[in-house]
Amino acid sequence: MYAQIIIDITSDALDRAYTYRIPEGMEVCTGDRVSIPFGVSNAIKTGYVVGLTEHVDYDPSRVKEIHSVMHDAISVKEQLIHLASWMSAEYGTTMNQCLKTVLPVKRAVRKNSRRIDPLLRYVDEKDEYHELNPEQQAAADRIIEGFRKCVEQMASGGFHVADTFSGDTISIPASVRSGISLSCEGSGDYMPKAHESVPRYLLHGITGSGKTEVYLHVMEEVIKAGYKVIMLIPEISLTYQTVIRVSTRFKGRVAILNSRMSIGERFEQYMKCETGEVDILVGPRSAVFAPFEKLGIIIMDEEHEGAYKSETAPRYETRDVAYQRAKLCHCPVLYGSATPSVNIYTKALNNEVSLIELHRRAKSGSSLAAAEIIDLRAELEKGNRSIFSDRLYELIREKLSKHEQIMLFMNRRGYSNFVSCRSCGKAVKCPHCDVSLTLHRDGVMRCHYCGYEIPLMKKCPSCGSPYLAPFGFGTEKLETLVKQTFPEAVVLRMDADTTKNKGGHEKILEQFRNHKADILIGTQMIVKGHDFPDVTLVGLIAADLSLSAPDFHASEKTFQLITQAAGRAGRDKDSGQVIIQTYQPDHYSIALSAAQNYKLFYEKEIGFRKLMGYPPMEHLMTIQLLSGDEDMLSMISGAASDAFKPECEAEKAEFIGPLNASVYKVNDIYRKIVYIKHPEHDIIIRLRDKFTASVRNIDKRGLVMLNYDIQ
Ligand code: ADP
Ligand code: ZN
Ligand code: ZN
Repeated sequence: MYAQIIIDITSDALDRAYTYRIPEGMEVCTGDRVSIPFGVSNAIKTGYVVGLTEHVDYDPSRVKEIHSVMHDAISVKEQLIHLASWMSAEYGTTMNQCLKTVLPVKRAVRKNSRRIDPLLRYVDEKDEYHELNPEQQAAADRIIEGFRKCVEQMASGGFHVADTFSGDTISIPASVRSGISLSCEGSGDYMPKAHESVPRYLLHGITGSGKTEVYLHVMEEVIKAGYKVIMLIPEISLTYQTVIRVSTRFKGRVAILNSRMSIGERFEQYMKCETGEVDILVGPRSAVFAPFEKLGIIIMDEEHEGAYKSETAPRYETRDVAYQRAKLCHCPVLYGSATPSVNIYTKALNNEVSLIELHRRAKSGSSLAAAEIIDLRAELEKGNRSIFSDRLYELIREKLSKHEQIMLFMNRRGYSNFVSCRSCGKAVKCPHCDVSLTLHRDGVMRCHYCGYEIPLMKKCPSCGSPYLAPFGFGTEKLETLVKQTFPEAVVLRMDADTTKNKGGHEKILEQFRNHKADILIGTQMIVKGHDFPDVTLVGLIAADLSLSAPDFHASEKTFQLITQAAGRAGRDKDSGQVIIQTYQPDHYSIALSAAQNYKLFYEKEIGFRKLMGYPPMEHLMTIQLLSGDEDMLSMISGAASDAFKPECEAEKAEFIGPLNASVYKVNDIYRKIVYIKHPEHDIIIRLRDKFTASVRNIDKRGLVMLNYDIQ
């Protein structure tokens, strides 16, 4: 017997499967991690078994033997290997990197590290079970019906489940340059049926319409039928309440991942899935790789959240990976959101995803808060230079006197945004990155990109003048101003700086929930999914900050932030108020989020995307070229682009670049960008590979690093 092995070395050149002999008596399965001799020196390396075969086409005596099997990793089910190979082709990343992404590896948990069982931390409340209202029931019924259909199709033999994949051929994707295809034991096509579609649902319901309760009921049915559940959340800190509800409802049957866990802690949680100790894995995007054998549904809460996109290669979109995983297990996917992404809503309108709507708030007596837009330009004209409009000031006073709670939202952390010189006009920048340093209250300026810090200097580093002044403001400054203006209020602040420590989010949220404070100030961290019954006022200090982001998603993000923030108020009986302070009161993303009118917002936004040829109307491939050598980067990116342009013209694809990235230098690495646009997915993937070849053709030594991002 022979094994096909991907060597654990991140290098495009080595990213192909190598054949090794399985020694007599050794048991090797697809998905195992093995150690093998590699190269002329026979250095011992680690590799992943991606296939098994009985024959080799060449002289078997030249085939090396596997050294040993490492039992330190979750055995990747064939399912996950297929998923890795799909990711490799889609995102242009090596198979090795993709395998590492889908395969959790064990690391020793440090002995005396004080560890709290994550489950214990989250189960501390009583279960608030609700019978579903008719609208919720209809939603749950539809999804459960979809699940049952999938189960029936599998039972009737019309479908290969993961366990039977070993009889198939694994196609190693195009990114593996040799383009070989691994013949495994037995015969059969490459998962013929796995590419049939599985049902996808979009549960679109306003905040508080009871989506989570619907998930819980669906989960119950799936588990009763003997299947497992993956529940994806953008980030634990953003959806703390949801995690508590799931782990309370299904006590002892839930594993939890969170981004602050150590590798060892994560491994323990994955193990619980593999051994069947739990029925549910709740976690951020990496939970989509849960090693469940019988997966019954993937639920993706807050589908629109940016945290679902991986920031490192493979830069995957969890929404799409979840769908691929579901196709491999033949189970449905349920996306839920109050503000669905433009992408998924377009799929819903094209009937690729079934749209289910919830129109009312679930709790009786609870209603959507009324939102008021305050034009900050008019405040200035009145002579009000404070950051509180007269109306917001009045309302804060009123709520404080009634002992009600307030949330104030500001989309920037740090005390002042940046420090600039009033003499030469230059902002103080990070010496390693192309961004301004942020001044913090402790008098230290920090780079939010690389962590560089330096005390606030006395003289301008550019011209030497002493006239340095802080400019703009962030959450820290807001906190200071709130305390000055409302000295009687107890104030909490939640942002990346106050939540650095493990459990930092939970502590702050719990204090606020238990009404230990009157006002919670925060960045977008505080606007998501939390349910604070005593909050009756939500203030957005500068709602349009996110509109100026250099990104075609800016309006979508702004609409989502405001709608979600507004949804925090009036979750209980007292109806709440929302104040939106802005300089652009007429912008559709602001006006329509205040009106909570998703459909009209979508129409405007999709019109804009159509006009500009932006996703989801066309696919956009962003390729980043990185190097520490600025001149060489310029030369290579320029020459590669020139050589590549005719290919784009032949495909009628649009090519833009090379341009300097909006932050040109980070950590002393220079970044150039090219964009390729085309309506067809497969063409864009092909063009990406051609551009890569064009770069490598000039850059033979591989000095320029390439990152890909497909949208
Ligand atoms: P969403 O996830 O859409 O924001 P939730 O499921 O969190 O909504 O529900 C909002 C609130 O309404 C929660 O406090 C929840 O306990 C309550 N709730 C949900 N479903 C019902 C129901 N059928 N009857 C009464 N209250 C409900
Ligand atoms: Zn100066
Ligand atoms: Zn920096």
